[in-house]
This record gives sequence, structure tokens and C-alpha cells, in this order.
Amino acid sequence: MHHGVDVAGTFPVTVPAKGVVTHIGYSARGGGNTVLISHGSIVTVYYHGYLATTLMLGQHVEVGDYIYTSGSTGASTGNHLHFEVRVGPAGNWGDTLNPEDYLGQGETDTVLKITGKLDKATWTALQTALKGHGLYTGTIDGIPGRLTYTALQRWSDAPETGKLDVATRKAVQRRIGVDDDGVWGSVTITELQGELHRGLAGIRKPEPVKVETVIERIIKPISAKLAAFFKMRKDLR
Ligand SMILES: [Zn+2]
Repeated sequence: MHHGVDVAGTFPVTVPAKGVVTHIGYSARGGGNTVLISHGSIVTVYYHGYLATTLMLGQHVEVGDYIYTSGSTGASTGNHLHFEVRVGPAGNWGDTLNPEDYLGQGETDTVLKITGKLDKATWTALQTALKGHGLYTGTIDGIPGRLTYTALQRWSDAPETGKLDVATRKAVQRRIGVDDDGVWGSVTITELQGELHRGLAGIRKPEPVKVETVIERIIKPISAKLAAFFKMRKDLR
């Protein structure tokens, strides 16, 4: 099991989200020059720096701060960055997460935490994603209102009421693939947050109608009627 992603080359590695440096190390048989940055419940780990980082332990970092240049230190045979995303109590290594879920989010101030709670950060991420799809026209403030709910309804194909009603909650649940019981508990919110990490998918295109469906719905009933008609004619003769 490879616990992260490797990006080949020699390039400056910068901080992707606000955080605190919680570990700086060197392992000859492991990650070489290593840096660990805590972003709250999520930590990111960087291995194989060409030289040790100039960051300091406990330093608060912002998006874009320089960590180091990728290299080939430790158990490495070529210049690359090994990047990991982990979840665990602040500062601890914790378990690895799929880094792919955290890529391609662009520059953000915070990494959306998987909390299972419908907090302000989640609404902010949701508004941002819906705006990106041209569905949300309001301000990104993390405070949901009529415009946010309407955008969510357009995204999930629910009737546009501008309210977070049961129909909308169910439609969103169907959209993210959880039981559509209309109750948004921690499972639904966790999945929704995961969906936001992966980049909220756009509006689904209608599925192409399958040939089997056409036969089943149109041709079969007609042919049954035709058969009955010809049988009737035969009977009459
Ligand atoms: Zn690696």
C-alpha cells in the first residue's frame, strides 16, 4: 500500500492550506527530509525534500508559503514529492486518506473538514461549488438561505421551493448515494462533505434511453395489441 501520491520532478512545494508545522524530520530509510503540517483535523505530509525545510516547528503557515524543493532524499531513487493526507488528532500522524479527494480544490483558505456536521464551512464549500456550476447566484457567506436552497434544488433536481424541505433533502441524498430518508444525519453530511472534497459533480445529463426500455415500454404493448387484433381477425374469418 502506497499511502500517498508521488509527483516526479524538482519543483518548489508550497503550503496548500492554512496550518501549523507540527513535525520536521529526516529519515535516511524513509521519507528523507519530511514536513508535517496540521490543518486542524487534517494533516498533510511532505517527503523527500531536496534540502531540509526552512520552516520552523510550530510555525503558522499560509497558503503559498514555501516548504522546500522536491528532491530525492531518504528511500527514493529520483526527484519527487511524496504527498500524504492524514486524519488524526491535531499534530498526530493518524490514518492516511485518499489524497485524490483533496486535489484540485484550487486555492482555499481552509481544508473542508469531514465533520459529519452541517457547519458554516460546509455551507461555504457548498455555495462555492454551486456557484462554480452557475447554480448559485448569491454571496458566499456560509449562511444558507433561499438562493442556496434553490441552487441545491437545481443541482439535485428537486422542486424549486427555496426551502430546505424533505423533498430537497431526499433528492440530495439520492444524488450522493445515501438512503433517501429525508433526515440529514452524520452519514449524509459526511458523504456530502466527501462529495465536496471530490468537487461537487455538475448537473447530470439525462441518461440515454436504452433499447430494452423502448422495446419494453413501446414495442411490446403495441405488438401484444397487434397480435390480439390479428387473432381476432382470424377468429372472425
Ligand atoms: Zn511515495
